[in-house]
Amino acid sequence: MYRPIPQPRPPHAAPALAWSVLGATPGELTYGLGRGAVPEVCVGDAVVAGQVLARSAAFTVRSALAGTVATLTPSAVQVTPASTAVWPPSAQTPTPEATAFADFPAFLAEIGLRGMGGALFPAALKVRASRGVRTVVINAAECEPGLSIDRTLLLHERDLVLGGARAVARAVGAERVVLALRRDADLETQVRALYDVELLRLGNRYPAGAERLILRALTGSLPPAGVLPFQVGVVLHNVASLWAIGRALRDGVPAIERPLTLRVGAGGVHRDLIVPVGLRIGTLLQQEGVALSPTEGVVCGGLMMGTAATVETPITLGTTAVLVVPRQQLRPPARSCIRCGACCDACPLGLHPVALVRELSNPRPSAAARAQLAECFLCGCCSAVCPAYLPLAEDLRRATSTQR
Ligand code: SF4
Ligand code: SF4
Repeated sequence: MYRPIPQPRPPHAAPALAWSVLGATPGELTYGLGRGAVPEVCVGDAVVAGQVLARSAAFTVRSALAGTVATLTPSAVQVTPASTAVWPPSAQTPTPEATAFADFPAFLAEIGLRGMGGALFPAALKVRASRGVRTVVINAAECEPGLSIDRTLLLHERDLVLGGARAVARAVGAERVVLALRRDADLETQVRALYDVELLRLGNRYPAGAERLILRALTGSLPPAGVLPFQVGVVLHNVASLWAIGRALRDGVPAIERPLTLRVGAGGVHRDLIVPVGLRIGTLLQQEGVALSPTEGVVCGGLMMGTAATVETPITLGTTAVLVVPRQQLRPPARSCIRCGACCDACPLGLHPVALVRELSNPRPSAAARAQLAECFLCGCCSAVCPAYLPLAEDLRRATSTQR
């Protein structure tokens, strides 16, 4: 019910994407509403593929498949797919170019695009704030270990990725498009043969792809704390977000598909797939012939920035990967801090993560702590090295939603 993308081929090979048929029982699709989205459907309503389920000023939430609204809560809508539901979505009537570019942020809100690098920040808000920037960055750094979907999209969906990047450049008035890549000679050779844009080579170690580190590589200095990319003349979009924009412009299909990497263990299944948003992870694994053993767990996203998931967790626009890992690789219960300082040493920005988390737990954290939080790009390096297994980055991620 999702389409496998072939693994990288030699340069110039045409992408040959095979769409598989819809599974017999895809189960309920679940859509998180996100902040401020108001439902536009009621329980029992029949919906078609791509129909708006909920809407906020900055984005829509749309059903990936035709079906019936099964449940509605303040935070989510569930749709039971019709037995006749078809996947993948075929090309619709694209929005006329003149309409799409008349108010491009409104077009992005209408297609329901939120940051597919994992942050889920509404693309409409980002692009609206970025009017007049000089540079559009295609963020294909993908520095999380084991992930390959950005690379695969770059190599096999060039026209859509480039179409999306050029559309953003046109909308914001940027004259420069830069492709940010981690250092990889083989990938660079293939990309050079496909893309006529400037390349920005980053390190090949995590977290080289963090937005602030890309800005440092681009401008020569780390932007001051709290300064956003558009304030230094740059707008960055993950390669999957640009792919989704390209698809909406060319084929008229809104953001209801999620390209992701599926990996099982170290040497098992490794596929790059395009999956309907809302699908349960359990269904995805079943469709791919992956049986989860009691000694294995699931992580959504990469091992550094990802979060533990279950078979019931739905795929969202921000799900870059589904990883099946041995349970011992999942984070054990947290213990008390032993004041070893390892989190401070690991932070690429020189922050003091444990002190920051402590300060942010106060009802009124200091201005300095809020400024440090604005700097933190939630890379997860601090959590990864903590011998007490404290979920520092998760705590910081939670704090961003209340303090920023
Ligand atoms: S997540 Fe941790 S290591 Fe990464 S930038 Fe934030 S405080 Fe530093
Ligand atoms: S790495 Fe963990 S145990 Fe060590 S100081 Fe930081 S929070 Fe405490």
